[in-house]
Amino acid sequence: MSEKILVTRSSMPPIEEYFDEIRELWDSHWLTNMGVKHRELESILSEYLGVEYVSLMTNGHLALENILQAMDLSGEVITTPFTFASTTNAIVRNGLKPVFCDIKEDDYTIDPDKIEALITDKTCAILPVHVYGNICDTEKIQRIADKYGLKVIYDAAHAFGERYMGKGIGTYGDASMFSFHATKVFNTIEGGAAVFKSKELYDKIAELKNFGICSQDCVKYVGGNAKMNEFQAAMGICNMRHIDEELEKRRMAVERYRERLGNADGIKLSPVREDVVYNYAYFPVVFDKKKFGADRDEIADRLARNDIIARKYFYPLTNSFESFHGEYDVSLTPIAADISNNVLTLPLYADLTVDVVDKICNLILESEC
Ligand SMILES: *Cc1c(COP(=O)(O)O)cnc(C)c1O
Repeated sequence: MSEKILVTRSSMPPIEEYFDEIRELWDSHWLTNMGVKHRELESILSEYLGVEYVSLMTNGHLALENILQAMDLSGEVITTPFTFASTTNAIVRNGLKPVFCDIKEDDYTIDPDKIEALITDKTCAILPVHVYGNICDTEKIQRIADKYGLKVIYDAAHAFGERYMGKGIGTYGDASMFSFHATKVFNTIEGGAAVFKSKELYDKIAELKNFGICSQDCVKYVGGNAKMNEFQAAMGICNMRHIDEELEKRRMAVERYRERLGNADGIKLSPVREDVVYNYAYFPVVFDKKKFGADRDEIADRLARNDIIARKYFYPLTNSFESFHGEYDVSLTPIAADISNNVLTLPLYADLTVDVVDKICNLILESEC
């Protein structure tokens, strides 16, 4: 194979389609600040995601920061260390303290049975992650939140377009964040959105993402700048026209992976639930070295020698980041630590062919003994 197979490859519309979409911008000269494309994409996504309000942002991370700021939170936020740097950094950058809860062994989402023990009189919110598109235990989490009067904010960066019990995943909790980064299932190059049911929150976030400006002569909040521009929104409008085919192609690659790896001893795949409509965003595989004969790092190296770049995603855990100078005790989240040491996320994107999936599986299974 001459070209490297990376863990992901961005979906792009035919170039003429994008040119057509941006042509009007040369007439209007309106390039950002909630232009026509921005508003059109908000409405397309509100329909597609099945949520009342969508606020588009420069990226998913700033969507999360803006949600936290909009809720006027202070104190502690219970969250998971088994996630991308963004989740934890958004909490800390808002002056809040992350309190790390361990994850479930089967689907790697926050373990709701361990949340209550972490609640103190300073706890203000729970911030779980639908990691790899695996849906959190939304019912249990909501029950705890209601009992203690906590906000629930989901990092749904991996869960674009997923549905649970017939409802869009963004309808659970008080707010959710989606990422439209180039590497995600749906992209606007960079981009993201905050979604919620509350009109009040939508209005506040609309101001927060534009420096807190509420009118020509009023700045109401200490906001930053997180507005999605018209070129990003145009990319999103084009990509949304192809989303169904893209998901279907991803589904086929995932089914092949499952066929090939599902019965291998020492390999654990994420569970498939009947009540979830998936987006096939990631394909994480957890190796049990004792049973499988090779560990995660050996498999990653073997794939790399064959120009296949899988990712140790999520490793390291966010509570072990150097930036926190040992402030958090990683031994308090042992399951997260174990999964993080043994998980490998395999290449997955719409244009990944079954032949390449087979090649990857052959390389992995060589070591089975
Ligand atoms: C991608 C990602 C983010 C951040 O999104 P950006 O759009 O890249 O800012 C946050 N959380 C998780 C879990 C992610 O995978």
